[in-house]
Amino acid sequence: MICPNCQKDIAIGSKFCYNCGAKQPETAASAPPPPPVYPRKRLVRSTNDRKIAGICAGIADYFDIDTTLVRVLWLLATLVPGPNILAYIILWIAVPEGPTGVPATSAPVAS
Ligand SMILES: [Zn+2]
Repeated sequence: MICPNCQKDIAIGSKFCYNCGAKQPETAASAPPPPPVYPRKRLVRSTNDRKIAGICAGIADYFDIDTTLVRVLWLLATLVPGPNILAYIILWIAVPEGPTGVPATSAPVAS
């Protein structure tokens, strides 16, 4: 928490500021914590759940959907004439590598 008098960071729940001695408002300790700020998601190639280049896992993580579903849809899309393989190669080159699904896959699903 921040002392309203001297604006210095002091321990949460402190009754008095140990920098300037100012009495701290009681409500400061019981105020609801600010909502957690999640870092903005970036489209990355998965480094921990990859089959070829991690594109499918990266897309799945970005849109918060199942990796297998993305792979199936991608494989079906390659059956349709079009620049699908080329698109994969472009994504492979353009999308940076990075870990994906870390909160979801680091802990086993208890069910
Ligand atoms: Zn102070």
